[in-house]
Amino acid sequence: MNIKRAVIIGAGLGGLAAAITLQNKGFQTTLIEKNNHTGGKLHEVCLGSASFDFGPNTITMPQVFNEVVRQTGEEPENFFQFQKLTNHTTNSFKDGSSFMFSSDNERMKEELLSLDGYAADHFSSYLKEVKKLHDLAQNYFLRRTFKSWKDYLSLPLTKGLISSRPLETLDHFHRRYFKDERVISAFNRYATYIGSSPYSSPATFGLIGYLELGQGVFYTKGGNHKIAEGLEKLALKIGVDIRTAEEAQEIAVSKKTATLVVTDKSSYEADVVVLNGDLLTQYPRLIKETDRPSLSDKKIDHFEPSVSASVMLAATNKSFPLNHHHVFFGEDPRKEFTNIFEKGLFSDDPTIYICTSAKTEPARSPEGDNLFILVNAPPLHKKDASPSLKEEIIFNVLKKHKIDISPYLEAKKMIHPEDIKNKFHAFRGALYGLSSNDRKNTFLRPYNRSADINNLYFTGGSTHPGGGSPMVTLSGLNVGNLISKIHG
Ligand SMILES: Cc1cc2nc3c(=O)[nH]c(=O)nc-3n(C[C@H](O)[C@H](O)[C@H](O)COP(=O)(O)OP(=O)(O)OC[C@H]3O[C@@H](n4cnc5c(N)ncnc54)[C@H](O)[C@@H]3O)c2cc1C
Repeated sequence: MNIKRAVIIGAGLGGLAAAITLQNKGFQTTLIEKNNHTGGKLHEVCLGSASFDFGPNTITMPQVFNEVVRQTGEEPENFFQFQKLTNHTTNSFKDGSSFMFSSDNERMKEELLSLDGYAADHFSSYLKEVKKLHDLAQNYFLRRTFKSWKDYLSLPLTKGLISSRPLETLDHFHRRYFKDERVISAFNRYATYIGSSPYSSPATFGLIGYLELGQGVFYTKGGNHKIAEGLEKLALKIGVDIRTAEEAQEIAVSKKTATLVVTDKSSYEADVVVLNGDLLTQYPRLIKETDRPSLSDKKIDHFEPSVSASVMLAATNKSFPLNHHHVFFGEDPRKEFTNIFEKGLFSDDPTIYICTSAKTEPARSPEGDNLFILVNAPPLHKKDASPSLKEEIIFNVLKKHKIDISPYLEAKKMIHPEDIKNKFHAFRGALYGLSSNDRKNTFLRPYNRSADINNLYFTGGSTHPGGGSPMVTLSGLNVGNLISKIHG
């Protein structure tokens, strides 16, 4: 039998999921990654005695990662173990008040009652509605691949689209269930999970509320990077050829067919190629413009990237009163979103997210805390120099909340949007590929199959179904299954 060869460029979660799926379906699969580790944005960083997860700290939909393993007949628990965090996120405000997000519904109502009686009364109907949005997405969008515009021409899909509240904004949707501005800000922050603004992204993303408060937030024992390490272990076990520290430089195309992937070290003949590296930076880099009429350089230049981030990793020799996930809101979140998305600026009073996984697993920082501190940043400007966040702003905001970390720092590292762009070839430093600030980017993301090259496919945040760790993993699974159907 003639065994088909698949070459995958990029070993992020999308690339790993596609590699496992294709190898499992009988393709001889090679996975090429420019960095010296797999996992892409999800990887471990060690500073002093502390261990951090870079990238996804909030894990939802663990069933998606488990599914990648189960398809091979293996047990997910042998590769990574998830732990549910019930009272997972504390939201703290400038006036000293705070409330917790919990996936225990009764606890959640009590928490809301302390700030917003209307919200406590309406929480059950909110949860029902966001479950509906989640089920619609599950049935119509998440499990399918889009190969061309014709895939959108189906009656059930159109009905699904209309029912998913595409024309209402997320902020407007939340205001129907909650009245207090602090509570609205906390729910509106879900828009940042898709790198977007609640004032322009569609209410469809209310489904994130169901993922966090209905299904729950999870942590991976040993750190979330264990997901990537577990997937790598499985890929190697079933025979995927993984090449790290090797960068693809060209995809040779002949008669609308990708034939060869050329790297800085070697070249690989291919029957099918999957691009997991950011489509918006790597498609134009690897394929000559004349071979990709559907996505010219000019068209790519018009796409709006998702939000980027400035991240401080801080290992301290003191333990602070923080929850595993903790958000300190700025005074005016609306102004912050306007600054980021319309003016391309940082806020001088930013909302700060901190993940301290040592609160759940102390061994990750034996001396004190491992603070992953994230401030949303505007994507890098196209031409002029982009602003960068001053570290003092983080220290000062936290100090006002009585979290004075600077005297207790053992080690610290700053990562800026420029670093994210350079390390992962991320489009203008975006965390989640394209933003979902308009309906087109939400529902008509670039298709999973190239419109120009018959055997070239896309996975990852800039393509369907979107950014975030479970979504890109789903895109890898979906694309692997699609390829097997068409080329297997
Ligand atoms: C700071 C931060 C916080 C985040 N927080 C969360 C969170 O809490 N929850 C969540 O779900 N998601 C979060 N995300 C988003 C999540 O990390 C991403 O959506 C997801 O990991 C992206 O996976 P991917 O496979 O699409 O791409 P990537 O992880 O970017 O992988 C693509 C890989 O391709 C490689 N590559 C690119 N070009 C080439 C080439 N030419 N040759 C070889 N290799 C190449 C890159 O080096 C990279 O490793 C966060 C991201 C960041 C950066």
